[in-house]
Amino acid sequence: MATFLFDRIVFGPVNSRRLGISLGINLLPSDRKWCSFNCIYCECGWTDRQPFFSGGFPSGGLVKEELKKRLILMQRQGKFPDTITFAGNGEPTIHPEFGRIISDTVELRNLFAPEAKIAVLSNGTMLDDHSVFLALKKVDQNILKVDSAREETMRLLNQPGDGFRMDRLLDNIRRFSGKFVLQTMFIKGMIGNRSFDNTSAGELHDWLKLVEDLNPEMVMVYTIARDTPLQGLQRIAASKLRDIASMVSRLGIPVQVSA
Ligand code: SF4
Repeated sequence: MATFLFDRIVFGPVNSRRLGISLGINLLPSDRKWCSFNCIYCECGWTDRQPFFSGGFPSGGLVKEELKKRLILMQRQGKFPDTITFAGNGEPTIHPEFGRIISDTVELRNLFAPEAKIAVLSNGTMLDDHSVFLALKKVDQNILKVDSAREETMRLLNQPGDGFRMDRLLDNIRRFSGKFVLQTMFIKGMIGNRSFDNTSAGELHDWLKLVEDLNPEMVMVYTIARDTPLQGLQRIAASKLRDIASMVSRLGIPVQVSA
């Protein structure tokens, strides 16, 4: 297993399959992964199950300082990011100052890279916190993960922490009234002696109904590209992802495939 952690707050820029030249921001500690999910395919490895403590996060002030320094440097070099992307070692919205950090990022983006979009990759589990909801409303690409319309499959793939309720997550996503990007990882494999495949006909039928119901401004479909903590997972063929994308297009919703 060769999963990895980001060792700094601002990283890259990297050429992203989905986001172009992406300047990354990691709001999580650099020495462990913290997330409210424990996805079997997570590039950062398995979730550290130790309780969260706010002292492990970089302060909002430090995040602002680091981002400002990097944007000034990029501006001097004439190399602007297409996207400033909150991702990193887990779920970014867990950061206790997430709302303030997004406001600071909007301010810095407007000053130093006005063409850049701000994207947040989130699993949506912190949306009960109103400040997180308001912050995600401010960003250009509010990218929310829903890997299956079926709770059983979703629990298998994402392994959420205690207290998670899928109906609550979906209700919270509906509060964006379609102003979000739905991101789905398609994958198949075995967990123990149990097989799963979220591209089966039944799964896709239910997922498409959910897509239609949530009516996002865009759908991103993708499959694994790097090592995963659970061994033996299988990528989905590019042709299958394109078929899925066609089904989404027929709903009148833009779709992006990363194969
Ligand atoms: S939600 Fe994202 S960061 Fe969290 S476990 Fe899943 S893939 Fe990893």
